[in-house]
Amino acid sequence: MRIQLPTHITKLCRVLDEAGFQCYVVGGALRDLLRGEKPDDWDITTDATPEEVEALFSHTIPTGREFGTITVVFEGRPVEITTMRQETGYSDHRHPDSVQFTKDIRLDLSRRDFTVNAIAYNPITEKFIDPFRGRFHLKRRLLASVGDAKARFREDPLRMLRLIRFQGTLGFRVDKKTAHSIQPGLMRLVSAERIGQELAKLLLGNYLFPAFELFYTSDLLQEIIPELAACKGVFQGGHHRFDVLGHSIMAAQHIPPELHLRWAAILHDVGKPVAARSTSGSSPFPGHAELGAELAEQILRRLRCSNQLIAKVTHLVRYHMYPMQPNMSDRAVRRMIAKIGQDHIFDVIALRQADITAMYFNPVQAVQFLNGIRQRVQEVIAEDAPLTVAQLAVDGTDLMRSLQIEPGPIVGWILQELLDMVMDDPGRNNREELLTAAQQLLELGQDQGSLPQTP
Ligand code: ATP
Ligand code: MG
Repeated sequence: MRIQLPTHITKLCRVLDEAGFQCYVVGGALRDLLRGEKPDDWDITTDATPEEVEALFSHTIPTGREFGTITVVFEGRPVEITTMRQETGYSDHRHPDSVQFTKDIRLDLSRRDFTVNAIAYNPITEKFIDPFRGRFHLKRRLLASVGDAKARFREDPLRMLRLIRFQGTLGFRVDKKTAHSIQPGLMRLVSAERIGQELAKLLLGNYLFPAFELFYTSDLLQEIIPELAACKGVFQGGHHRFDVLGHSIMAAQHIPPELHLRWAAILHDVGKPVAARSTSGSSPFPGHAELGAELAEQILRRLRCSNQLIAKVTHLVRYHMYPMQPNMSDRAVRRMIAKIGQDHIFDVIALRQADITAMYFNPVQAVQFLNGIRQRVQEVIAEDAPLTVAQLAVDGTDLMRSLQIEPGPIVGWILQELLDMVMDDPGRNNREELLTAAQQLLELGQDQGSLPQTP
């Protein structure tokens, strides 16, 4: 079988070949190409040493020189070239004890994780090297480890999570023996960063249901995110057809594939198992959004996610229960945008849409309902009414001068009250009216003794 490679990749391989080196397309790039997808990153392997690669090309970057990886900028595009290698011993379960360069492509393929990732294609001879039947498994849509799965997972336990990740992104079945070889306890040996990065790739997948099934049943989920595993078997009644874990997976699958949205969806109800324990009143899960936001923050911190991601996700989880409807009043829409923030409001709506789609609702109705809310929010934003204190026609200095008061908490309080007033009626956002209203607020507060005190 001939395969179609971009011309810059074929040319680059020819340079290596003409210098007397072997050269193969390998890894995820070849796998995805054979699946009919267009790879973004190209994995090239050669028996040229990093020094020899550097000598052959004019523009090189030593990205991972110690592991044999050089980035070559070829015809303006970066391509990663890795020297074929063999790995021996993994006594720390993270790094091979020694990395040896090899001239045998089969040895290089044998260190790779799954058979579909262990195929090589030589663009010069147009021949495949496929010692582990990777192409056959690709056709059967099957993930199987290269060699003895138990031993391969012991060498580098991250491979267990990579298995789940490929299941979730490729939608392949997992070979029984490989699945049964998962040893959740080993996961403790893997750094939180690597786990976080794999989870990010998993969450963007299109096949979250089968992936999370193995994630849960293998006890890996319990090991990595016990808070989410605790959602299994928490039933909710009412509109819900799934337990909290199933509902969360479904919500994640229904939200657009952006990392912060996927994280927010999978974690939006993570407060429910804890909230369920404190139930006494009418709500079966009192305060679960607030609790969930705290748990989400702990989970994402533990996984060393970026502060920006953590801030977005916790905000979404915190506000996912905010009451909203297409026929809410203008002032209620303004208050909602002011409370949630213009930067987050459409994400919260997306989360609500995924949330109710994952319940017992008619999905078409859910989309219409949320589109109605979205439209209301767009209209209110377009009218440009003030939603923050900074958008008022007066500021703190104006107030202090006009009311002859000193800086202190009273200034902030009056501004907040004025904003409240303007959100009810944006027509009142002019200097004159606001200063008059401020004067009245001050007098009323003085009469009632209800002004905030300087601490
Ligand atoms: P993608 O780039 O689409 O996420 P990929 O398969 O290219 O998927 P990478 O992490 O880029 O994954 O790794 C490239 C190749 O290196 C893999 O296809 C696999 O052959 C090998 N590989 C990567 N990580 C491991 C690992 N932990 N153990 C064994 N082989 C690995
Ligand atoms: Mg890759």
